[in-house]
Amino acid sequence: MIPVVKTIDEIRSAVKTAKKQGKTVGLVPTMGFLHEGHKSLIVRAVSENDFVVVSDFVNPTQFGPNEDFESYPRDIEKDRLMCEEAGADIIFNPEPSEMYDNALTTVSVDKITKTLCGASRPIHFAGVATVVSKLFNIVAPDRAYFGEKDAQQLLVIKKMVKDLNFDIDIIGCPIIREDDGLAKSSRNTYLNPDERKAALCLSRALNIGKAMIDSGETSAKAVKDAIISEIEKEPLARIDYVEIADLDTLESTDKTEGILCAIAVYIGKTRLIDNFIIGEGTK
Ligand code: AMP
Repeated sequence: MIPVVKTIDEIRSAVKTAKKQGKTVGLVPTMGFLHEGHKSLIVRAVSENDFVVVSDFVNPTQFGPNEDFESYPRDIEKDRLMCEEAGADIIFNPEPSEMYDNALTTVSVDKITKTLCGASRPIHFAGVATVVSKLFNIVAPDRAYFGEKDAQQLLVIKKMVKDLNFDIDIIGCPIIREDDGLAKSSRNTYLNPDERKAALCLSRALNIGKAMIDSGETSAKAVKDAIISEIEKEPLARIDYVEIADLDTLESTDKTEGILCAIAVYIGKTRLIDNFIIGEGTK
């Protein structure tokens, strides 16, 4: 059975042994309660590295005071099976006290953390950037894998790695969806059957927006309006934001190329996110 280690010393020593054997190291940071989306990252990491570490840590510092840190789903035994199936080598599953021993240092990325999810979750990305920096320093991987499901997070991590000269390749992986289109998420387990049906409005609205751009629409406002009106048809949905943002700055734009179209929608009390990307950034 794949080992689960709880301390920084243990994971460091396992990685050290692997590196001594000349192995390359891949890291997949997660908050656990793993699903096929996480598994796709692990499988990719296994295919590109000799030794794969999955971190499984519900990071308290990236949750706001009224968010779901306490209730976030956890199941390390199920995660263990999934990691083993995917071919990972070890799981790092620390307690918060192991990661934060009266810490006074944080990492924060400016500007691109203020828009989209950063507008409604002001401390979120500093929590993410800090814990990911710590994981990078603890594991020192050659490559680290992140999902495009959290597109803003992926861009923030790429920027942080560039700005702080981490010698780590950041690999973005495509969004994995349920058969009916809902992006897989650990938070989908919060949805009751009616909410689960209602949650389809996210992918349905994004598909409408994407199809408009594919068939030549060049006004981001028109696309945004169509997405908003589709979501507003769903009585259980409440929009947090619908935004079309420049892929470099993550600021609102009226172009439809080189963009991230990102949405956050409450379905009942559950906040879900989804997105699509058109083209590439220039940086
Ligand atoms: P989380 O456990 O939600 O923090 O996610 C850990 C990593 O898995 C992040 O890089 C996410 O972007 C990625 N991830 C989560 N859900 C999906 C999905 N449906 N498809 C692809 N990647 C995902």
